[in-house]
Amino acid sequence: MLKLRGHHLICLHFFNGEGYDSAFVENLKDVLNRSQKEEIEVCEGADAVCEKCPYLKGDKCGYDAQADNEIKKMDNKALMYLKVRPGARIKWQEIKEAVSGLFPQWFSEYCVECDWKKVCVKNQDYQKLRA
Ligand code: SF4
Repeated sequence: MLKLRGHHLICLHFFNGEGYDSAFVENLKDVLNRSQKEEIEVCEGADAVCEKCPYLKGDKCGYDAQADNEIKKMDNKALMYLKVRPGARIKWQEIKEAVSGLFPQWFSEYCVECDWKKVCVKNQDYQKLRA
């Protein structure tokens, strides 16, 4: 079962082959591949993406001093927009469809100031949603 946290259920749609390091990128490719074939369990905290992240410290996000709290808030907001709860089992295609509807709000709330925006803008799905 592939476990994914709230904001990754949205942001992963805009992966464009870039990431913190090669282990992280290879894992992202694997996660996306699995997402097409496996059911996804919505989780709280560190997930299948965080597993290979150089910033994961124990079970917390150490991207910066406030990251763990801020990212958990972002996860909660993503789950609210997606109308799913932790523990739910979902399919990637259902999430993909939901992301189209919530994207304008997500963009103005999170993408505008995100460090990764410069990467996501190269993704074709992201460009379509922005058009
Ligand atoms: S930066 Fe934090 S939330 Fe993002 S993948 Fe790494 S540990 Fe997970």
